Amino acid sequence: MKGPLLKVENLVKHYPLGGGIFNNNSLVVRAVQDVSFSVERGETLCIVGESGCGKSTVARLLMRLVEPTEGRVLLEGIDIASLNKHALRDGRRRMQMVFQDPYSSLNPRLTAGQIITEPVENFERMTRKKREALAADLLKKVGLAPEIMHRLPSELSGGQRQRLGIARALSLNPAIIIADEAVSALDVSVQAQILNLLMDLQEELGIAFLFISHDLGVVEHIGHRVAVMYLGRIVELASAEALFANPVHPYTEALIAAAPVPDPTQARVEAPVEGEVPSPVKPPSGCAFHPRCPLAEERCSLEVPALIPIPDGRVVACHVRAPATGVDSQVAQAVDTHASAPYPKNVTD
Ligand code: SF4
Repeated sequence: MKGPLLKVENLVKHYPLGGGIFNNNSLVVRAVQDVSFSVERGETLCIVGESGCGKSTVARLLMRLVEPTEGRVLLEGIDIASLNKHALRDGRRRMQMVFQDPYSSLNPRLTAGQIITEPVENFERMTRKKREALAADLLKKVGLAPEIMHRLPSELSGGQRQRLGIARALSLNPAIIIADEAVSALDVSVQAQILNLLMDLQEELGIAFLFISHDLGVVEHIGHRVAVMYLGRIVELASAEALFANPVHPYTEALIAAAPVPDPTQARVEAPVEGEVPSPVKPPSGCAFHPRCPLAEERCSLEVPALIPIPDGRVVACHVRAPATGVDSQVAQAVDTHASAPYPKNVTD
């Protein structure tokens, strides 16, 4: 099939604030602002940013757990907003989710085997023999012994539960898995095992991942491309290699500078920005990063910078680092945010 597996176009999500006698109906939380990107088959696109930047809202919009204020989500060329309840159920087979907290996302009353096969049984009747064979196969795929299929989630470790969540997501043979902070609740050693498992599954099955994380170490390890979000907007989208070697947007630069360095002989570089992320109810005018940005100029507080493609194939929204000189800003905003840098893993068409 031609075209990207997943295409997100100008997605916007505003939550009106309501209630109370002093309620001001004009107040809205601008959770997601004009977000566009695409994901290819067999690719891992990571979305990274501080808490409250809108990355988890993007995940919910993709799964249609919340409705967008504006914009479109196309899965294999089909606008998911156009799907009725029945068709949406089918569409969700192709796009599955793995959650942050493996314990609360698993039904505590079902056994591991029942948890894995439950999604499939929503679509087809299975004999007990077929059910057990499917559960054993999926458990094996995620590195768990088939014997645990009779255990409850409370009888499993955190890593085993997350493997179980991945097995459940795999049961419907999805084209893409959205992993929202999928390893952040796990110990570091278990995190590495789960990340390696996801990469192995991608190589074996050609699954795409949209991997949402605040952890740059995790993103660098697993991502082919990385989109950096700040206060509801993508500010830079590049191949992981290019982004970590040479961040262009001042916010990306600050995030990378602030990330812990695993090598004790290497000095940590202080983050060149200070202060908190502003409220999405009243974001700063122009570039929302301007109150914290060491490079801010007068123009930065007046105009929202468009995402501009720069020569190495990435897109960046910054008046100083990626000036729109000679580029029609409307055209620039309409660029396909699929930065052209190649990604190294196997891709199945
Ligand atoms: Fe900083 Fe201005 Fe670039 Fe925003 S547009 S990141 S304020 S230099």
